[in-house]
Amino acid sequence: MHAIDRSTIWPYDERGEPREFYYSRNGSPTVHEAELALGALEGGDALLFPSGTGATTALVLSLLRPGDTIALAAGCYFGTARTFETLARWGLRYVEFDQTGAPPEGVQLVWLEAPSNPFLTMPNLEAAAAHPARVLVDSTVATPVFLRPLEHGADFVLHSATKYLGGHDDVLLGAVAARDLDELRTFRSNTGISPAPDAAWLLLRGLKTLEPRVRRQTETATALAERLRAHPRVEAVRYAGISGLLSFDAADAAAARRVETATRLIVNATSLGGVTSVIESRARWEGERVPPGLLRLSVGLEDAEALWADLEQALAH
Ligand code: PLP
Repeated sequence: MHAIDRSTIWPYDERGEPREFYYSRNGSPTVHEAELALGALEGGDALLFPSGTGATTALVLSLLRPGDTIALAAGCYFGTARTFETLARWGLRYVEFDQTGAPPEGVQLVWLEAPSNPFLTMPNLEAAAAHPARVLVDSTVATPVFLRPLEHGADFVLHSATKYLGGHDDVLLGAVAARDLDELRTFRSNTGISPAPDAAWLLLRGLKTLEPRVRRQTETATALAERLRAHPRVEAVRYAGISGLLSFDAADAAAARRVETATRLIVNATSLGGVTSVIESRARWEGERVPPGLLRLSVGLEDAEALWADLEQALAH
């Protein structure tokens, strides 16, 4: 792995012409290296952004015009709808739809999430690919280990690389992958939504262990989902069968609060996709959009039996 290049400038060539890298808002070697690595995993080109949300903002501003409508998968990451609502005064609209079926007519972009966070539904990629609008898949939770959306007719893949791709809860970063990113690249330079080299280096570090991490997290999450389904205090379990992300329902908000504050090994914190297991009640952020007792669990790399013992003692409270 190369050293981090933190320069913001590089000399022009002997004729006085800019080389590949000349000013870091437009591109830099460590960022480029990470983009090549992620692009290879997704089967396209990739561009990094300072966060997943930054990637969302850049993509919709670059692709859409005032008055355009996005068909947004219901039950997907709640922050995506917040971003679109923030952009409403610039004329952006969105409608929610059930991503397990066909997207509605009359929209200019279809926004799917594989699987949705925290409802864990998988999108119907075939139905979306048959829609005339362009299709984006937020594949943050699936990762390219389990899904390569460009091979299923998607035009864009989006990642919060803060999650599984980074993998260690120490880097905030986003990414878009596609077959052609020239327009978005120019938009990124012109709007300055450009990533930092240190974050790109941490992504390169994370990508080296991505596959073994998410495979083991999937194995552990599969076992925990099965045990949670059989637990008398658990009312519902949602798990897509891939990745370490699942959600389950305690009886009500108070019961969920008791469980999340009683775990010892599993940290009571937000986010997902890291090597440390985290749990949280999502109603604190999403309000009535989720069942009051919904707990989101992101399974890390701890021993599966130790995680189950921790959940069991927390559920007994
Ligand atoms: N997409 C999904 C599925 C997420 O879970 C998140 C963050 O929680 C985001 C996008 C936004 O990413 P970031 O927090 O890196 O801005």
